[in-house]
Amino acid sequence: MNPINVAKFGGTSVANFEAMTKSASVIEQNPNTHLVVISACSGVTNLLVELANGVQDNHRKKAILEGLKTIHFSVLDQLADPLIPEQAILDILDDIEKTAETAASQSNDKLTDHLVSCGELMSTHLFTQLLIERGNPAVRFDIRTVLRTDSRFGKGEPQLNDISRLAQKKLTPLCQQQIVVTQGFIGSDSEGNTTTLGRGGSDYSAALIAESVDACGLEIWTDVPGIYTTDPRIAPKASPIPEISFSEASEMANYGAKILHPSTLLPALRHQIPVFVGSSKEPEKGGTWIKEKVDSTPLFRALTLRCNQTMVTLHSPSMFHAYGFLAEVFKILAKYQISVDLITTSEVSVALTLDQTNTNGKAPELPLEAQQELEELCTVEVEHNLCLIALIGNKMSHSKGSAKQVFGTLEEFNLRMICYGASQHNLCFLLHESESKQAVKILHKELFEQ
Ligand code: ADP
Ligand code: ASP
Ligand code: MG
Repeated sequence: MNPINVAKFGGTSVANFEAMTKSASVIEQNPNTHLVVISACSGVTNLLVELANGVQDNHRKKAILEGLKTIHFSVLDQLADPLIPEQAILDILDDIEKTAETAASQSNDKLTDHLVSCGELMSTHLFTQLLIERGNPAVRFDIRTVLRTDSRFGKGEPQLNDISRLAQKKLTPLCQQQIVVTQGFIGSDSEGNTTTLGRGGSDYSAALIAESVDACGLEIWTDVPGIYTTDPRIAPKASPIPEISFSEASEMANYGAKILHPSTLLPALRHQIPVFVGSSKEPEKGGTWIKEKVDSTPLFRALTLRCNQTMVTLHSPSMFHAYGFLAEVFKILAKYQISVDLITTSEVSVALTLDQTNTNGKAPELPLEAQQELEELCTVEVEHNLCLIALIGNKMSHSKGSAKQVFGTLEEFNLRMICYGASQHNLCFLLHESESKQAVKILHKELFEQ
């Protein structure tokens, strides 16, 4: 069997005809690329999420629908034979309009997933036709027939055994002769309802698909030439990292480096699939290789920023010298499927942050019922508008002076919560969102620009 390379292209890489053309030539450069996973055209998912959250203003609704049509028709207009994908796009646009009507009166997560999946369903029609017109044996594949998840709409949990079985049956044989173009981000539950993996989930889809077809490589093509020491939009002097280990890159993704969805590297690590991150606009600039073993393990590797954090502080004098309190708290959190991110404890209180990557894009909320149950145990305080900064590196808690360097640099900032020591690879803290970017800039300058 031929080795299969999986290439994933994000929204900016399929934003318009020109971007799609560059992405097509990236695919043509690697004869092993037989599976292509793409996102919705840039901006489309945001518009669909807005519709899904329920737009009441008819002018705004009309403007969004027009906007969606313009984005897709600007590509259709430049295809040699637009008629083939045109009818499919028109049908999907029609479905979007009808579903948006329903969402305006009764928005819910199931409807949201149905609506937002339309972005990837449309972009794959266009991109497949473009590849065919350039002489490639491309075929469009609906990934919902393979990417099985549970029914947690907005953040579906992939069902690995089903995915592997379905992929071996339906996807692997197709990849032998053709270039299969499929959707990132979307899947379906066992009842056939469309689900999504959460915002930015196409990276994760690509990794799951790569794992399921025993791929030899996974390429993530985006708008920057690799993973940088921090988001180059925040610190323009950030520099690209040529090689990084799975564990460091996973920590980066987990703590908010938008370049990779947090779960992307789990399937790659399980199957030891090397991952490459590069720019589809400038492939000649190279990029970052993510591997199990790398030559350098610097003390400080990168800084990440994740906003929209919700911090929950639980306070109970009865926690003093008592046991079982934390177990009670976690029992309630587990009951409501609340995933905890950071946690710090003192003698009488616990502070924790809630995880968030769901598709509706809202800050994670503590469900009311969970809050009420927690209030039977302790006082509960919920705060929003916080950001999490993570410093990723190696053996930081074993290196004298590194904490001093970090906290000394940030002495002007009000750090709300600090987690240090649990992992060799990170040091995390929370601060108010109004000062978070400035903190990243200053810390990056001190640690990475000297
Ligand atoms: P795509 O649509 O291709 O998935 P994303 O917008 O999700 O692209 O991710 C790429 C963006 O991630 C970059 O434009 C950059 O602003 C941001 N980013 C955040 N952290 C980093 C980092 N450490 N290195 C590179 N890019 C980063
Ligand atoms: N289109 C989806 C989003 O914008 C998934 C992705 O691009 O990864 O979140
Ligand atoms: Mg992304």
